[in-house]
Amino acid sequence: MNWITNYVRPRINSLFSRREMPENLWTKCPQCGTMLFHRELADNLNVCTNCDHHLAITPRDRFGALFDGGVFVEVKVPEPVADPLQFRDQKKYPDRMKAAQKATGERDAMLVAEGEIGRTPIVAAAQDFSFMGGSMGMYVGNAIIAAAERAVKLKRPLVLFSAAGGARMQEGILSLMQMPRTTVAVEMLREAGLPYIVVLTHPTTGGVTASYAMLGDVQIAEPNALICFAGPRVIEQTIREKLPEGFQRAEYLLEHGMLDRVTHRKELRDELVSILRMLGGMPAPTKADLPAPAPAQIDPPAQPSAEPDADQTQPGNATDK
Ligand SMILES: [Zn+2]
Repeated sequence: MNWITNYVRPRINSLFSRREMPENLWTKCPQCGTMLFHRELADNLNVCTNCDHHLAITPRDRFGALFDGGVFVEVKVPEPVADPLQFRDQKKYPDRMKAAQKATGERDAMLVAEGEIGRTPIVAAAQDFSFMGGSMGMYVGNAIIAAAERAVKLKRPLVLFSAAGGARMQEGILSLMQMPRTTVAVEMLREAGLPYIVVLTHPTTGGVTASYAMLGDVQIAEPNALICFAGPRVIEQTIREKLPEGFQRAEYLLEHGMLDRVTHRKELRDELVSILRMLGGMPAPTKADLPAPAPAQIDPPAQPSAEPDADQTQPGNATDK
């Protein structure tokens, strides 16, 4: 027995744990099935290197790639009442929350931050689909209000990345009440004359689509993102008809006037900077680092001093005329 417990079992355990490791290092692309190495995938902003499929990205990773130098400051979100309905399905709601918090390392399904992108100060909010399907509960409502209030206070535009399966059923009517609440928050930005840009990511559905995700001054979507109120399967079952190819996908919605842009994740940052600077009446963005001033550029001040002599003759000419 001693030999089994001391030698055989640890060997077996180490074999299994070793076998588990590589699985975490590789992600299978849900579109083309290519196995993608985790580091390569992260470097490519979670976009498949083979077929350009946009996989989900966490708000923290997104902000890391979005803000200048990956630097951002989180905006504090007021805590809502926990489990107001004492909801229970197969699991208690607080237990589901704890599991999601442990799995994602986040407080809830929305992260709010302030910082600069392309030297343009903004407030940003991003929804986390991996946290209970990015469902909109009271915390998400509070987060959007906190983001809008912060944007108004700092006089900055708000950029929101949406991803949600809809309302959080564990909070019932209180979840649905976040639709008018967040609409009022967006209205606050409008009254302050601040741009509100929405980037819709896969998937954005339900009550989120029916409120803050569709109220942007500019509506951008990531390629092939599913954006809808009721999903295609529900519609198909209701109307008993086959839906057209690509129905409710970003490109289809762009063609039908529901969106302004469909932008690849790698080009999104540059595009956001251009749009934000244009709407804010700021000079065009600097695409690269400015070159260090060369010695030749320091000398020229001698030349302008020579020019005023030439200028002095002109005003004389002008008065003559
Ligand atoms: Zn792929």
